[in-house]
Amino acid sequence: MIIDLHCHTNCSDGKLSPTELINLAIENKLELLAITDHDCTNAYTEINKQINKLPNSLKLINGIEISTSWNGIGIHIVGLNIDINSKSILEAVSFQKQARIERTEKIIHKLAKKKIVIDYKTLIKQAGHDNIGRPHIAQYLVNNNYVVSVDKAFQKYLGTGKSANIKQCWADMEQIINWITNAGGIAIIAHPNKYKMTRTKQHYFIDSFIEMGGKGIEIISGRQPIDVTNKYIRLANDKGLLASVGSDFHKIAKYQPTLGINVKHIKVSNNIDFVWNNL
Ligand code: AMP
Ligand code: MN
Ligand code: MN
Ligand code: MN
Repeated sequence: MIIDLHCHTNCSDGKLSPTELINLAIENKLELLAITDHDCTNAYTEINKQINKLPNSLKLINGIEISTSWNGIGIHIVGLNIDINSKSILEAVSFQKQARIERTEKIIHKLAKKKIVIDYKTLIKQAGHDNIGRPHIAQYLVNNNYVVSVDKAFQKYLGTGKSANIKQCWADMEQIINWITNAGGIAIIAHPNKYKMTRTKQHYFIDSFIEMGGKGIEIISGRQPIDVTNKYIRLANDKGLLASVGSDFHKIAKYQPTLGINVKHIKVSNNIDFVWNNL
């Protein structure tokens, strides 16, 4: 079975429109898909207008990826099977949208100190919406010849610990887990291998997440070595977390994950439960 429970459209920082993403999912023979745009569910507004055109072979699950920070570390929480029209998701989206606006203003201010001038209206025009993320700002810096690549923009200014990085602006993790849970959804730790934590800290983080009501963890995020997958399978098993998988697909590009993961190849000897059996 080919599935994907973490990917992005151009409603956040992905390149494909929701319709194009669905078409790619059909092309790649996906049976189950969740779009998880950053702090936004607008992709579903577009897709739901033509939901009856979806083939029976593809099941679509409502999703979102919400930004937070825990002990000063930037963390992403995926919410699956959420009611996008519920009070709690509407509240989550509106809170995080305001946080993004304020963060963008702060980043622009910090960059101005480095003699980098960003026009907010042009930034929104270039993004195609006002759900601005760091990749949009990075692209702006490339377009205006401040840096040679998006990667360089992160390395120089926008990445963790760099001069224009804003550490704290999001809702806290417990709030986010509650928003997802109250919307009937399942809260999942996104790409756990991306956070720079010691083993001890990672255990403490996962235990805190569970204590706050979190239910799952991504055992596969994009392309990763098998030993990383095995590590997270063990962790999911030890902590009693549901296992999820996602490509974190943003665009069609060389050396980057495409949409869809064949879960038939996941070898599980332990007593692990997959999130897709609970959707
Ligand atoms: P934001 O949600 O605004 O904090 O932006 C985070 C997004 O930026 C991630 O979801 C990635 O898509 C992208 N990103 C993070 N780090 C990098 C990097 N070093 N180079 C390019 N894109 C990155
Ligand atoms: Mn992204
Ligand atoms: Mn993420
Ligand atoms: Mn993502």
